[in-house]
Amino acid sequence: MVDPHVAMFPGSFDPPTLGHINIIKRSLRLYDHLYVVVADNINKHCLFTAQERVDVLKRIFPDSPNIEVLSYDGLMVNFAREHGVGVMIRGVRAVGDFGYEFELAMTNKQMMDELEVLFMPTDPNYFMLRSSQIKEMAAFGADVSSLVPAEVVELLHEKVPVVGSGSLA
Ligand code: ADP
Repeated sequence: MVDPHVAMFPGSFDPPTLGHINIIKRSLRLYDHLYVVVADNINKHCLFTAQERVDVLKRIFPDSPNIEVLSYDGLMVNFAREHGVGVMIRGVRAVGDFGYEFELAMTNKQMMDELEVLFMPTDPNYFMLRSSQIKEMAAFGADVSSLVPAEVVELLHEKVPVVGSGSLA
C-alpha cells in the first residue's frame, strides 16, 4: 500500500544546490512527509560519498520533522515500495531535462503503476544550475556561495582542491 501524502525526491545531490533545496522546500508544502533519497549508485562516479551527501543534507534541514534523508543503492521504485511512498518528485529545468525525465517516468510507471511521478518546474532563479557546474566552478576557485547552501560551500572547501586560478603560465 502506498500513501499519496508521502513523497520522495531522489537524486545524486553531488552536491546539493539551491535548485535542489528549492524543490525540497516546495515539496514540503505539498506533502506530509518527504524522503530525500541520495542515490548510492556504484556505476555513477560521484565526487562526494553517499554518506557525505546525506550528512550535508541533514545539516541543511536540521529542524524539519517531516523530512527524512536516506541513501539507497537500489531501484527507486523499490525504495517507494519499501517505504509506502505514493509520489516521486523530479525537478525539471529546461526542455532538455524533460525528455530524460519523461522516459524515466515511463520506465518507473511500468515497474510500479501505483507510484505517481510529479514534475516540478525549477524556480527561474535556478534554471541554469546543475551540480556538475558547481564542481567545475569550485575546482577553479570560483565563488559558488550564491548557488549552494553554506554547508555545501564548506564541504567543497574540504574536498575540492583548486586546480586552476585562470592566470597564464
Ligand atoms: P540525477 O542524477 O537523479 O539527475 P541530480 O542530483 O542531478 O540527480 O538531480 C536530482 C533531481 O533534481 C532531478 O530531478 C533534477 O532534474 C533536479 N534538479 C537538479 N538541479 C535542479 C535545479 N537547478 N532546479 C530544479 N531541479 C533540479
